[in-house]
Amino acid sequence: MVENLAIVGSGPAGYTAGLYAARANLEPILFEGLESGGQLMLTTDVENYPGFKDGIMGPELMQEFKTQAEKFGTKIIPLTVSSIKETSEGFELFTSKDSYLSKAVIISSGASAKWLDIEGEKRLQGYGVSACATCDGFFFKDKVVSVVGGGDSAMEEALFLTKFAEKVHIVHRRDSFRASAIMQKRVLDHEKIEILWNKEVSIINGEDSVSSIGLKDTSDGSVSELEVSAVFVAIGHTPNVDFLDNLLELDEKGYIKTGFTTPTSTSKEGIFAAGDVADSIYRQAVTAAGTGCQSAMDVERWLES
Ligand code: NAP
Repeated sequence: MVENLAIVGSGPAGYTAGLYAARANLEPILFEGLESGGQLMLTTDVENYPGFKDGIMGPELMQEFKTQAEKFGTKIIPLTVSSIKETSEGFELFTSKDSYLSKAVIISSGASAKWLDIEGEKRLQGYGVSACATCDGFFFKDKVVSVVGGGDSAMEEALFLTKFAEKVHIVHRRDSFRASAIMQKRVLDHEKIEILWNKEVSIINGEDSVSSIGLKDTSDGSVSELEVSAVFVAIGHTPNVDFLDNLLELDEKGYIKTGFTTPTSTSKEGIFAAGDVADSIYRQAVTAAGTGCQSAMDVERWLES
């Protein structure tokens, strides 16, 4: 059987694409992937998704997305696509179990957390090194912890950690944040948060769990050590494109290039991309949902033509 549309990924972009494609009678299938629900599954309060004036919990929002997509007939497949091959009828998508044929494909595989790639980081992951305060913050009640980064994610992680930790150090490599003004203000005003400007983490120390971090001053090169029980790395994300194996053109940052014929079209006719995997600029749930909608409409028109 050849499907009309296979959607790869289950964040706001994928589910919105499923919703629109299902309502257009395309009977889409959607591969949930490894991190079902995407990055919002790792957050708490989402305060900037329009329509929820009092905020909504990330996992709850994603459950709503999923239920709505399924309600109109999107078939959710709890598998991860490991590769895609072009065929005479469209594309073949391979998973750990079966392979699936589809005329059109929407890639909405999102992005994953970046790591510092320093000594101690990998060894102590799960033992004080984390990229998700929402998941692991609870374990550091009344402890001193650190957050690395200067964007909105770092601000969000630090603010969340103040609920548990005695003190939160934000380590940032420059002397100003790139985070939005409102998030910066909340952080700078918080009595439990201290900012370590112009510092890079050079090593994470600890036998069985994190005990301290080595810091290098980016302005004068001096080194110091800071005792902390945890390091939350919040330095951005990498688009999930490895499974594509050069099938599509990427931009200089590694995100899928779009806008060839329609806004969500890619360099390969019949494959469209939506959400964070094709967006290095906005990376919001609402923009991902928006491009998810666009991609389904682009597919509908492409299949008709
Ligand atoms: P980001 O904006 O790209 O910020 C990454 C931060 O990490 C930057 O401050 C960067 O430093 C630093 N960094 C990168 N590589 C580093 C390294 N190797 N060592 C040390 N520091 C490093 O990423 P993000 O914070 O994940 O945010 C991504 C997008 O999601 C943004 O558009 C953001 O607005 C959005 N977001 C929004 C919310 C919200 O509205 N509530 C929450 C989270 C994320 P430099 O500044 O020096 O480059």
